[in-house]
Parts: sequence; structure tokens; C-alpha cells
Amino acid sequence: MAPTLAPASSKQTNGVSGTRGEQWVAKNIPCPNCDSSLMLLPVGFPLFDVQCSRCLFRAQVKANRCKPKDQIFGAGWEILDRTLRTGQLIPPLLVNYEWLDRSTGKNRHEVHFFPFLTKANLSRHRRPRTGQRPGYKQFNYVGLLKPSTPQAVLFPKGAQAVSREPADR
Ligand SMILES: [Zn+2]
Repeated sequence: MAPTLAPASSKQTNGVSGTRGEQWVAKNIPCPNCDSSLMLLPVGFPLFDVQCSRCLFRAQVKANRCKPKDQIFGAGWEILDRTLRTGQLIPPLLVNYEWLDRSTGKNRHEVHFFPFLTKANLSRHRRPRTGQRPGYKQFNYVGLLKPSTPQAVLFPKGAQAVSREPADR
């Protein structure tokens, strides 16, 4: 049976920064640069969710309840757009994937690291004119399964990315 899981996409409002998936990354994934511990940045900190406790490494963290896929939701477009216009780079991205493997009935968990994303990895779109925040500009990360997109699986250690497995499981 699939365990009941709390939604990973909504920010908590109990004073603890980050979603449960973001908190897991900060607690369990060491800095990809220097192996020191990562810490969550305050809620509302622009563009970045975690930073290293020792070096200058910072990253955006996304938590997804699905197997690794090519396109995931990003964030609001305006702030990233302003950043890119000043010549800054797209923040490194950590994606925490948790999903139920239907073929085995087991829960799977992987953390993928994208150290260098380019504008080709961003897809802009607008929210529909009906519903929440009509017309709001957002972006998705795309091309995450492309071999040409630099990436590494940080958790579990020594694991191959699911996307590289021959059969779709
Ligand atoms: Zn570091």
C-alpha cells in the first residue's frame, strides 16, 4: 500500500523554512563542493533555498512526488528574469524525487544535482486566466533528462539515474 505522504509542493507556515522535501535535502545532502553541511535559507530568500555552512555554494531546491522526469515546475519568472538580465547565472538546482515504484511496490528516493543549467533549460509560461493568480508568469525547468544537461545523482550514493535504466519501471 502507498503510504500517505504530505504534499511536498506547499511551503510550510509554521515558522520552519522549506518544505519537508527541502528540509530533508538540507539535513542529509552534503555540499557538492566541499562536503560540509548545507543549511536552509530563510523563507522568501530570492532564488536560493540552501547554502553551504562553509563555502559559497548555494542552490535552489525542488521537491517532487514523482520519478525523475524531463520537466518540473520552477517558480515565478520575474525574479529569475531580473537576475539573468544582470548577467548572473541560473542557480544550481537540487531536485528531491520521491515516488512509489509500482513494479516493486517500494518507495524510491533520489536526489539529482544540476550544477549548470542554461536558458535552454527554462520554459516560460503563464498561468491560465482563470483560477489562482491569473496570468502570472512562471517557468518550468526542462531538458532535465537530456544527457547534454550536466547532472549527478547525489542520493542514494553510487546510484545510477533512473532515466538511464533501460526499461521504464
Ligand atoms: Zn561547501
